[in-house]
Amino acid sequence: MTRPVVALTRWDDAGDAVRKAIELCDGLAGFRSTDRILIKPNLVYWDFDLPFPPYGVVSTTAVVSALVRLLHEEGFRHVTIGEAPLPVPASRGREIFRALGYERLRDRYQVELVDFNEEPFVPVPFGEFSLRLARRALEADCIINVPVLKTHNQSVVSLGLKNLKGCLSKGSKVFCHHPRLPLDHLFPRIVEHLPVALTIIDGLFTLERGPGPTGRAYRKDLLVASRDAFACDVVGAALMGYSAEEVPHLDFFARRHGRRPHLDAIDTRGEELATHRFRVEYDWEWTEDDTGPAGFRERGITGIAVRKYDDSLCTGCSTLFNPMLIMLMAAYRGQPFPNVEVVSGKRQIAQPGFARTVLFGRCSCRLNRDNPHIRKAIPLPGCPPDLGQFVTLMREEGIACDPREYVRYRHYLFNRYRAHDGFDPRLYDFHP
Ligand code: SF4
Repeated sequence: MTRPVVALTRWDDAGDAVRKAIELCDGLAGFRSTDRILIKPNLVYWDFDLPFPPYGVVSTTAVVSALVRLLHEEGFRHVTIGEAPLPVPASRGREIFRALGYERLRDRYQVELVDFNEEPFVPVPFGEFSLRLARRALEADCIINVPVLKTHNQSVVSLGLKNLKGCLSKGSKVFCHHPRLPLDHLFPRIVEHLPVALTIIDGLFTLERGPGPTGRAYRKDLLVASRDAFACDVVGAALMGYSAEEVPHLDFFARRHGRRPHLDAIDTRGEELATHRFRVEYDWEWTEDDTGPAGFRERGITGIAVRKYDDSLCTGCSTLFNPMLIMLMAAYRGQPFPNVEVVSGKRQIAQPGFARTVLFGRCSCRLNRDNPHIRKAIPLPGCPPDLGQFVTLMREEGIACDPREYVRYRHYLFNRYRAHDGFDPRLYDFHP
């Protein structure tokens, strides 16, 4: 049986690495000049309010523009770039395109830019459930998926299969963070209904403890490309130090499709994989008794139990979890907090023995509405919750949360990346 081919190439500033990667894996085989090609980068989220280091978080414009140029040179004239960024509170896809220089890219190569959130989603049956997929993604003849080489604190890695979650409506994204079904058994199904013809993992950076800007990026200068979406992800995971068996959604996909999840089942061409393997941790350490991140223990914080998020917590709440933790840490003044528990997501049941219980988000409020263990509920019923309301309610309980602490933290995160260390913001812009 022939093995799927995966190309591994080094990035160079001329952008020739994209061409080399595609040639090594014969990535455009089967593409016709009349095909409607959809490029799906990872632009899941952008923060316009606070400093946002994009390194390892979103696809670089350098790789996307090199791909667009190559397609143009090869005579493809029906190219669209599409994404459904997280609509919090409204979709800002067009602003993200502008921030990344895509408008100049559009004008130079006549590509179309589409925020999927502005167009219809089509219900697609997946047997026991259905998901709403972007019409543009379903109507494309070929999708070129351009994820980032990054880890994810819920799914271990976020590569090609995970990036396709960006083709879902908001409601279907939420559905994937199901109260009973594992996340890792839902989003890997999306690829079954989409014409993904080529995956190019943008590994200019890799991200530890992703998927957001609170993770730590490293410059890697790699591209991974394949016509086989699963094999591409297996190699991407291996580069970050994970076998496919250690990544539940890859393990699930392999079992479901009868695939061997091993590197020896893949024909890797180009760079030697072993020389580029670089272990990056995917998750934050939590205390053994589930009372908060390891940072709580290190600071001697007591009187509070922030339960570790599970995979039912969807992205809207996830992006606010870290600000909450940072504000709680900064609010600690050496005295125990007033015996508070914080629960979140669609599965966490508040435990007895706490004076106050923070219900973080609408799902948690609904789940714990009649929970007899709760002595005093502090509900945050928004979807996602309102952090301003959290600050107000915490202050009423004597916990002096201050949003400025999180702003300071974000400046610190942003400022730790220096251009002379390879963190060049021009990689996220396009200049013809
Ligand atoms: S409250 Fe949070 S976990 Fe629930 S649907 Fe909204 S964002 Fe998702």
